[in-house]
Amino acid sequence: AKALGKARYQVFDRHMHQRAVTLLQLETDLRLAIEREEFVVYYQPIVSLQTRKIEGFEALVRWEHPKRGFISPGEFIPAAEETGAIVPIGLLVLRQACHQLHQWQNQCLLDTRSSLAEELSISVNLSVKQFSQANLIEKIDEILGETNLNSCRLKLEITESAIMDNPEAANKVLQKLRQRHIQLCIDDFGTGYSSLSYLHHFPVDSLKIDRSFIRRLQEGNKNLEIVTAIVTLSQNLAMQVVAEGVETATQATMLKNLGCEFGQGYFFAKAIDAATAEQLLFSPPNW
Ligand code: C2E
Ligand code: CA
Ligand code: CA
Ligand code: CA
Repeated sequence: AKALGKARYQVFDRHMHQRAVTLLQLETDLRLAIEREEFVVYYQPIVSLQTRKIEGFEALVRWEHPKRGFISPGEFIPAAEETGAIVPIGLLVLRQACHQLHQWQNQCLLDTRSSLAEELSISVNLSVKQFSQANLIEKIDEILGETNLNSCRLKLEITESAIMDNPEAANKVLQKLRQRHIQLCIDDFGTGYSSLSYLHHFPVDSLKIDRSFIRRLQEGNKNLEIVTAIVTLSQNLAMQVVAEGVETATQATMLKNLGCEFGQGYFFAKAIDAATAEQLLFSPPNW
């Protein structure tokens, strides 16, 4: 038993070592990628389910690796979070997204086809790690100043765990965002903490219903009840509600009938590069 224990220990050790090496490699890769500006921001429209007009875009990062090609965020965001690289990456996305929205607003002033873009908003994901950075607010102020974007056009998406990891510290940050009229959205709502009490205590503007509840909406399972409950909850708390992962016309109609205001998903568009997003904005399709 002792020998076995030792062998196991060695296997474990080797595994740990391998993992550390991989992480270290990825850390180097991520740092280089930041320097080489390999991160690109894609935009996915968020659409009013009533009017079918684009209300805003969510900024989603893409890594264009020179050798490995396109790498999806699912593959590197968790590691970037672990190594801390998510902090500079997240700021880079925030800066690029704010700059892009401001550009679109300016173009709209010159373009008679769309009066809409002045009211557009940009949603940017904030990771747990970013959220706990002492200088977060300072950085956001800096970026808003640089890009000239009106702070009320910015929506930050955070998960419940970003708040619940340290509710007191979170509240201080959220109050500062509120003072600046930056909007706050709870991402992946329904998948995190079961306690809803934080919704009363924190300045939350909108809830984004997780894709897992939307995916099997019309199959007669409990998802319909869950989505209905979230929509009712958000109405009672005077919050906006967005459904993510809307893939079919049926889902879009069902959600509209349930009272869900906004939808986002492949039915409308995937996350697309800035040029393609701009085309959507200035000549919207017939959804
Ligand atoms: P998320 O914030 O929940 O973003 C939604 C994800 O769902 C995106 O995946 C989007 O492309 C995908 N999606 C949207 N509509 C549909 C649909 O109709 N069907 C399906 N099957 N999927 C849909 P993506 O771009 O791969 O991003 C994955 C996750 O990576 C994001 O989930 C977010 O947590 C994280 N992420 C992406 N960009 C950033 C970023 O700039 N900062 C941080 N902190 N996280 C990011
Ligand atoms: Ca999100
Ligand atoms: Ca989400
Ligand atoms: Ca997610």
